[in-house]
Amino acid sequence: MVKKTRIKYGNVILAIVVGFLLIYGLVSIVKMIFKDEPNEKPEDYEVRKEKSVLPEATLPTNEEDKKTKEYTFNIGDSFDEVSSFIEENEAPYITIINYVKEPKEGLVSIEGNKLYFERNLTRTKVRWLQEQLTKAGYPTAVDGGFGKKTKAALDKYTNDIMNQQFETYNSIIEESLELHNGVKSDDTDLTQDNIRWLQEQLKIAGYYTKIDGSFGKNTKKTLDKYTKEVMNVTFDSYNSKVKESLKEYNKDRLADTSNYYLMLVSKKKNILSTFKPKDLVEITAKHADNVKYIDRKANEALVNMFSDAKKEGINLRVVSGYRSFQYQVNLFDRYVKKDGFEKANKYSALPGQSEHQTGLAVDVDNNSDAKYTVSVKFEETDAFKWLQKNAYKYGFILRYPKGKEGITGYTYEPWHYRYIDDVNIAKEISANNMTLEEYLNE
Ligand SMILES: [Zn+2]
Repeated sequence: MVKKTRIKYGNVILAIVVGFLLIYGLVSIVKMIFKDEPNEKPEDYEVRKEKSVLPEATLPTNEEDKKTKEYTFNIGDSFDEVSSFIEENEAPYITIINYVKEPKEGLVSIEGNKLYFERNLTRTKVRWLQEQLTKAGYPTAVDGGFGKKTKAALDKYTNDIMNQQFETYNSIIEESLELHNGVKSDDTDLTQDNIRWLQEQLKIAGYYTKIDGSFGKNTKKTLDKYTKEVMNVTFDSYNSKVKESLKEYNKDRLADTSNYYLMLVSKKKNILSTFKPKDLVEITAKHADNVKYIDRKANEALVNMFSDAKKEGINLRVVSGYRSFQYQVNLFDRYVKKDGFEKANKYSALPGQSEHQTGLAVDVDNNSDAKYTVSVKFEETDAFKWLQKNAYKYGFILRYPKGKEGITGYTYEPWHYRYIDDVNIAKEISANNMTLEEYLNE
């Protein structure tokens, strides 16, 4: 009796287990075949954005109003109109606002003085949003598609954290996420890239600080010095006013890169860190091991020049060619560490002020004794004498001649030649003992 009953129970349990396994298997197969519906394309939302308009503005008419009045935008104004309104009147005066298709109470933002508006959901923006939601503890796939799941995660976030509901993603949410996750995306925020930009611009303005992307004590001090001396104000931190000021202040301090072969790089004309010669090739003219790249045409001219010199028993060799901005940064910072800024600045070019970054400058020697390499002694050699007579025929000029220090800003360098893609101009400059600055009237 007992035995029989036990067998019966066993069968029932077995049947249940097998049943479960079967159902589970089937569900899995069905799931595999009918995957979750794909995310909606963000393009759908862009269309909506196009159709939506920002609210109508009650524009201020006098200065006093601009400071005190609250403005209400209503349907009828395009986003562009509202933007230019803000620009003209300066955002801090504005306390609005409404951001969607329909003005709805409760949807109006409102922390203090900021205008909030609907965000254009590009794929990049959606990816950012998905990353931030996931980081905030509301996980969703990071695939750039604004679908149901992303919308649900977003709604949950705004409900839980912001205690509000929104029809669509907007700048209020963006700011909340940035605060919640401790990130920001303003172009004056102190990200590494922005700090590098700031440091480079300070350098161009004549306020040198290390260009390393880190906002340390020295950078802050240098920035303070600039704002005090140039802007006549002090700021707590880097902001868009400083950024605009630097852009304006440095306009005339930038090299004109539009005419490549005649471009002037000097202590007064800076080349940006982002500049790269358009046609760098591996150097094939005779060169020292450390030299790697040079402009294509300059290389061809060097090959010809060296081979013609050789026929007259003159040995020539390139000992320095193209150098990158970063190379100069590292070099210069090393010198500053060793000798201090003042001294280093006398014998080494600041990053962005070295002609070698153009790919058109070469240092040459006669490949004999190290004492002639990058040394004034080079002028005693037959190689130098030959170059003095012939370099222009191949499009080269002596860039820092004797007696022209006041114009070039550099001491005499008999070893440094600059390629100019025009034999006639090179001839004119050489024959008249001119500098590139004098030729260009700079
Ligand atoms: Zn040089």
